[in-house]
Amino acid sequence: MSKLEKLNKKISSCTACALRSGCTQVVFGSGNPEAEIMFIGEAPGKKEDETGEPFVGSSGRILDKMLTEINIKREDAYLTNICKCRPPENRDPLSEEIEKCHLWLEKQIKIINPKIIVTLGKYALNCFLPLAKISETHGQIVTINIKKNGKINLFPLHHPAAARQNRKTRTLFNADFKKIPKLLKKIKNKT
Ligand code: URA
Repeated sequence: MSKLEKLNKKISSCTACALRSGCTQVVFGSGNPEAEIMFIGEAPGKKEDETGEPFVGSSGRILDKMLTEINIKREDAYLTNICKCRPPENRDPLSEEIEKCHLWLEKQIKIINPKIIVTLGKYALNCFLPLAKISETHGQIVTINIKKNGKINLFPLHHPAAARQNRKTRTLFNADFKKIPKLLKKIKNKT
């Protein structure tokens, strides 16, 4: 069993917060365990909770469309969320739920070791940079240091659900997304 499979098994039996008792299953993540790019969203929604796969609902369709536009296959990336269990009625995750689940996220990042982490929405951004504003940081690389993982390149984007609801946000989201191939190339050339 690979390191990631072992970790997924542990995540799947986590009961550290109350979310697990109200959801169908833990959605730990999907994609390439050696991905160069990792997308981190907020939490599973109804479809994700039913299927066990992240980003398979309406936000996932937007993400898939943009991935196709920049020629990245979904299965070549790694997709996950800051919370692995669906909050009731899709409410926003609470800070204690995010904190409890952060341990798993750090372990996933350590194993996958991506070149770039795309955070989707303010919750995923604030999970790494608690005071950052999405309106100010979206579309720019922010290099941060995390305890167990060292330096990581964050690329904050708006959440696809926000992009779906607001035309201006959609324009920003699309433009930011299209910067990914160049950024990835630049980061790879540096390492
Ligand atoms: N689906 C997910 O897996 N995460 C989100 O943040 C939204 C939809």
